[in-house]
Amino acid sequence: MNRKQRRAMSKALKKTKVDHNALETKLGLFDMIPDDCVICHAPFDKTNKEMVKTWNVAVRQKEKIVRVYCPTCWTKTRNLLNDLGVDVDGKQTKRKN
Ligand SMILES: [Zn+2]
Repeated sequence: MNRKQRRAMSKALKKTKVDHNALETKLGLFDMIPDDCVICHAPFDKTNKEMVKTWNVAVRQKEKIVRVYCPTCWTKTRNLLNDLGVDVDGKQTKRKN
């Protein structure tokens, strides 16, 4: 392993840790994250940073409910909610044109 590779690797490891912590800190509900998609029940690994990045974790702080959506189901759900005029991201959806 050369220096460049080692650097890239330590950078990647560092990033993993940060992502994990960010999720945990942000949600405070890490243990409550389900391990499958709420819709199609595709398995979700919350320790897999790629999955954490691409899957959508929806938290209802009040009810302490955590739901995960795989990218496919999330896109569908999002489109459906957008069609219904629901504010999915907590911010106004900007429509082009
Ligand atoms: Zn799904």
